[in-house]
Amino acid sequence: MKTAAVVLAGGSGKRMGTSTPKQYLPLRGVPLICHALRTFEESFIDEIVLVVTPGDEEKCREEIVERYGFGKVKHIVAGGKERYHSVMNGVKAVSTDADYIFIHDGARALIRTEVLERALADVKEYRASVVAVPAKDTVKIADEEHFVLDTPKRTAVWQMQTPQVFEAALIREAYLRLEKQEAELLARGVEITDDAMIVELCTDARVHLVMGAYDNIKITTPEDLGYAEWILEKLCKND
Ligand code: C5P
Repeated sequence: MKTAAVVLAGGSGKRMGTSTPKQYLPLRGVPLICHALRTFEESFIDEIVLVVTPGDEEKCREEIVERYGFGKVKHIVAGGKERYHSVMNGVKAVSTDADYIFIHDGARALIRTEVLERALADVKEYRASVVAVPAKDTVKIADEEHFVLDTPKRTAVWQMQTPQVFEAALIREAYLRLEKQEAELLARGVEITDDAMIVELCTDARVHLVMGAYDNIKITTPEDLGYAEWILEKLCKND
């Protein structure tokens, strides 16, 4: 059995509000993207494809992959306009003999091996597995003027995280179909914000949720960086 990971660092990170793109900001002394890469590098994963902002490929090879010794990174590819375009480019670069593909937001620096292991066990059973946590807050559906339209039953609401993990053939097929259906989906106003949606929209496969971790946050705004530092410090103390 062979497993591959597509690690995404191709976003603009505008919400961080810094001139340095967020994936290179220091987090406990190393660039943010190194944290997720380290977890995958030291896990059972066989191969990593790193997706970066177009034009950053050489910089990332030298300053991240070679400098920090991520030997499992086999390809560094350019991302695309939307997250799903970046994933598409990454999935295309994965070796053809991979059985399972883990798709991970590089901004989720706090991902832990135990979550990867849970996701692997789950995808072997269900073919499409997304790491998620049950919502703690009540969630409301609202219109554009912020008037509440509906309140889903809280026990049925989960928040999606990454990695999102799929049988390689399934995710390849889903992304191939997406290429054909993209214009029609966009015309219908569909916003594609995760990989599971593509499997839901473009295939008959069912997506299963597997327990993630509440601290597996996506570092997006400056306060997230402080929180991530605090968690990493706590984890180091517990080692
Ligand atoms: O923008 P969002 O928070 O959804 O980004 C999640 C992850 O996807 C981040 O790690 C970001 O670098 C990546 N991304 C990407 N290509 C894009 C947009 C986002 O690789 N076009």
